[in-house]
Amino acid sequence: MDKIGMDNAVVEMDGDEMTRVIWSWVKESLLMPYVDLKTEYYDLHVKHRDETDDQVTYQAGEAIKRLKVGIKCATITPNAERVKEYNLKKEWPSPNATIRKILDGTIFRAPIVLNNVMPAVRFWKKPIVIARHAFGDIYDAASLRFETEGEAEILFRHGSVQKSVKLPALKGAGVIEAKYNIDNSIYGFARASFNYALMYHLDLWFATKDTISKVYDARFKQIFQETFEKEFKQKFDDASIHYNYYLIDDALARSVRSEGGFVWACKNYEGDIISDLVSTAYVGTLALMTSELMSPEGYYESEAAHGTVQRHYYRYLKGEKVSTNPTAIIFAWTRGLERRAKLDGNQELYNFSLKLEDAVKLTIEKDRIMTQDVANVAEKPVGAVVDTQSFISAVKANLDKMLGRA
Ligand code: NAP
Ligand code: MG
Repeated sequence: MDKIGMDNAVVEMDGDEMTRVIWSWVKESLLMPYVDLKTEYYDLHVKHRDETDDQVTYQAGEAIKRLKVGIKCATITPNAERVKEYNLKKEWPSPNATIRKILDGTIFRAPIVLNNVMPAVRFWKKPIVIARHAFGDIYDAASLRFETEGEAEILFRHGSVQKSVKLPALKGAGVIEAKYNIDNSIYGFARASFNYALMYHLDLWFATKDTISKVYDARFKQIFQETFEKEFKQKFDDASIHYNYYLIDDALARSVRSEGGFVWACKNYEGDIISDLVSTAYVGTLALMTSELMSPEGYYESEAAHGTVQRHYYRYLKGEKVSTNPTAIIFAWTRGLERRAKLDGNQELYNFSLKLEDAVKLTIEKDRIMTQDVANVAEKPVGAVVDTQSFISAVKANLDKMLGRA
């Protein structure tokens, strides 16, 4: 049978440990037999990052700018232990952080909804996607502890321009924290969020505490509103989707009462916290989550939200069969290929990617064949708890049936 062609390549970033092993199994069984896969390959194995003084990570990031689409395997962020284990020159920075800095993106995390993995909130039926602004706020703040009463102010200075604001009188020992954000980054966050909502045909929520934070949060609210009206209102109307602004406490209460089906744009700190809460409440395992990064310029990267699954890897090296869930890795590929397909107008590739996602869902939902992590949270009955390769084979069998190849 003819393989599906690709007009343009995607950036393929290989990684470490168990996810690297599964990466090649997924390509061999679920992609290469069907698609004439065009990739520009960057090996982000920790040893290769070390050999290239991490240049390979920068090259991969730049390649995503050129080709617009990157698909990334999980990678080790080295700490002291890893430096010893792999005999590295130093503790290289997190590749995700490096690539994010190059692309300036917003991260979108969505649960892979299955009808036999029930959300902890029983009203939820459609995905809730958390869009986290990954810049500024308390992650890049200046803070200070003081030992006596006193006074403090925030001072801004640029050339002859000077602005300042006093804090209320400090009546005793305590702490101060000053955080900031930059308009350009907020505009990028807003655009990425609106674009993602359009791409997946979901409503967009944005929530802050602007009633209290009358300058800081209010600026975020203003920028979202302005961006919506100037750039997205017509597109949202055409797609029959909505943009809603809420106060953050109202949004939390509404999200629990809702049936899902929206993107929730969160400032950095709220996104950090709410994404863990929503993902655990929704699917109970990181291997049933997608993670996509979108930049305001339209650069795109997909990855699995989990790490390299180190503990499973050591067991695998000993020759044991491991039941690591490849779902998030498969979806990293399908989402990346869907993005490529949309950019290139490649309907065949797009349909194939959707079918592969359906084949995974069918395997877990209908055949009830699953890996251990899903069996732990799935509704009974569980058909079979299998190792990774058996799971991939079961997905392949379903895919072949769907493609009429069986
Ligand atoms: P991890 O790889 O996400 O694994 C933590 C635990 O979660 C595993 O031991 C396993 O639990 C469970 N798990 C994660 N993914 C799973 C899957 N696909 N199927 C089944 N179970 C899964 O996190 P980590 O062990 O803390 O980190 C390992 C390495 O990954 C570190 O070197 C870290 O730097 C790196 N990391 C990379 C990324 C990234 O590249 N995006 C993200 C996070 C961490 P059980 O052992 O109980 O089965
Ligand atoms: Mg968090």
